[in-house]
Amino acid sequence: MTSLAKADIREIEKIVFSTGFYKNKAKNIKQLAIIVSEQFNGKIPNDFDTLLKLPGIGRKTANVIMDCAFKTSIGFVVDTHVKRLSNRLGWTTSQNPVKIEKDLMSVIPREYWKDLSLYLIYHGRKFCMARKPDCDGCFLNKLCPSAMKTTKIK
Ligand code: SF4
Repeated sequence: MTSLAKADIREIEKIVFSTGFYKNKAKNIKQLAIIVSEQFNGKIPNDFDTLLKLPGIGRKTANVIMDCAFKTSIGFVVDTHVKRLSNRLGWTTSQNPVKIEKDLMSVIPREYWKDLSLYLIYHGRKFCMARKPDCDGCFLNKLCPSAMKTTKIK
C-alpha cells in the first residue's frame, strides 16, 4: 500500500487505462492508498461505513470488499446487470441502486446475497443482455415476467 501511495500517478493511469475514466480512477486509487497507509496502518478497513468514506468507494464496491475480502455480507451488490435483471425478473420496480439494494435485501435471505449477485451478473452477460436478451435460450424464460416482451426490452 505504501508503494502505491508513493507511485507516480502516470504509472497508475497506465495500469487502469483500459477500464475507462482512468484519470479519475488513478487519482482515487492513489488518494485511497495514501489514506490507508497513513490512517489504517496499510490495511483496508474491515468496516462498511469506513470503506464508504474512502475515495472512489461507493456502496457497490464496499459491498464487494466486505463480501470477498472479509466474508461478510452487509448489503447486496447492485451493478448495472443486477439493476437490469432485478427489474426484468420483477424483484424491484426501481432504477435507483440504493432502493434496489433495499428491495433485494428485503426478499432474499442474507446467505444468498453474495452468490446471487454474482449469478445475476453472469446471467446478464450471457443471456439477459441490455439490448438483446436471449430469452429463447434462457432457462428462466418460463418464470420471468419479462420473457414475452423481448422485442420491447430496451
Ligand atoms: S427470460 Fe429474457 S428477460 Fe427474463 S431473465 Fe431470461 S433473458 Fe432476461
